[in-house]
Amino acid sequence: MISVEDARNYILKHFAPLEAERVNLLDALNRVLAEDVIAEMNVPPFNNSAMDGYAMRAEDIAHASRDHPVALQVIGDVAAGYTATRAVEPGTAMRIMTGAPMPPGADTVVRFEETSEGVQGRAATKGRDTVEILVAMKRGDNERAAGEDIRAGQIVLPRGTVVRAAEIGVLASIGKNQVATHRRPRVAILATGDELVALDEPIAPGKIRNSNEYSNAAAVLQAGGIPIRLGIARDNIADLTAKIRAGLNADADLFLTSAGVSVGDYDIVKDVLNAEGAMHFWQVKMKPGKPLAFGILRGKKEVPLLGLPGNPVSALISFETFARPAILTMLGKTNFARPTVRAILDEDVENSSDRRNFIRVRVEQRDDQLIARTTGEQGSGVLTSVSKANGLLVVPENVTRVRAGTSVEIQMLDWN
Ligand code: AMP
Ligand code: MG
Repeated sequence: MISVEDARNYILKHFAPLEAERVNLLDALNRVLAEDVIAEMNVPPFNNSAMDGYAMRAEDIAHASRDHPVALQVIGDVAAGYTATRAVEPGTAMRIMTGAPMPPGADTVVRFEETSEGVQGRAATKGRDTVEILVAMKRGDNERAAGEDIRAGQIVLPRGTVVRAAEIGVLASIGKNQVATHRRPRVAILATGDELVALDEPIAPGKIRNSNEYSNAAAVLQAGGIPIRLGIARDNIADLTAKIRAGLNADADLFLTSAGVSVGDYDIVKDVLNAEGAMHFWQVKMKPGKPLAFGILRGKKEVPLLGLPGNPVSALISFETFARPAILTMLGKTNFARPTVRAILDEDVENSSDRRNFIRVRVEQRDDQLIARTTGEQGSGVLTSVSKANGLLVVPENVTRVRAGTSVEIQMLDWN
């Protein structure tokens, strides 16, 4: 048997970030920048007001207070999107809106609330040619300086950054409508087995639905890859060989098969994969997910293949453990860890397997504590044990029991 780490390290040596491609801004979401992005402009581009109020010179109101207001002559208005048509001279002020450029000569803004307009109301003061200022201010107060967020010439987002909504906003703020990111991997998905029936075919005695194709395709999408569904290969050399070659012709960057790789299996899958490439067939020290194949197929180019186990739970846990990090690596990501929480285990959990046990749990808030409970029957065919779970409790190989009441670390799959 091979350890989870040895299997994963061996597998990940065969993956690297894919080449860069320029994509439209929104298509960069969840992808990784393949270039340093340099700002060609300041953000904000000009000094502007952070408040709705009056722009003036700080020295004019150095001694202003509610008891001793300072009256200034109002010389105009400047709204966001426009520029002042004249300068603010000593003794004058200009009405200004948030985001409007500071008028020449002004160096501070007083909020309406701290002027006679704020106290008496706009209706009462509209049309007056003076405003009374009720507070003193320092130069630069309520002013946003040009370039205070981003300076022209600066690397604003370095290569390797994962693009989220905030990065999309930063790129938009400097006018980038395209950006270079690592290409999304194309992942071929092939289910194998004579017992499998496609969703649009009638079910028959002895047959089951091909669920792995769909759960794997969905997991590929969630990880950021592009699934290429190849359907079902029957347990014979001709069909399996044809479907593998179809996947290679579809320019796959990674091949995922399910089933046919366990010890007891009829050897068709092993024979065909070995004929099309060089494969390892492993027993991994994990539960579920013990059988696993990995190797390289020889097509027009060499394509890594992961042979996932057939049992639906095993297929998903093996995907999580091996395929997801491979896909993230091709996307240029380096952090594969799921977020973890500490929770109190609600029941005794046994691990009689001497393998690493991936227990499906549901974490919930109870009073002021997080509680983790198993999702029931943990058989590798019980797919609803994954569906009910929002996290995994990973019990190490050498631990046989974790008692109720223990504080445990849970790898969160999601928070639904
Ligand atoms: P195998 O790995 O071929 O021994 O299959 C292990 C178990 O997984 C068997 O019960 C299979 O019927 C089941 N299985 C294999 N492929 C799929 C699939 N695509 N969808 C759902 N179950 C499957
Ligand atoms: Mg089989």
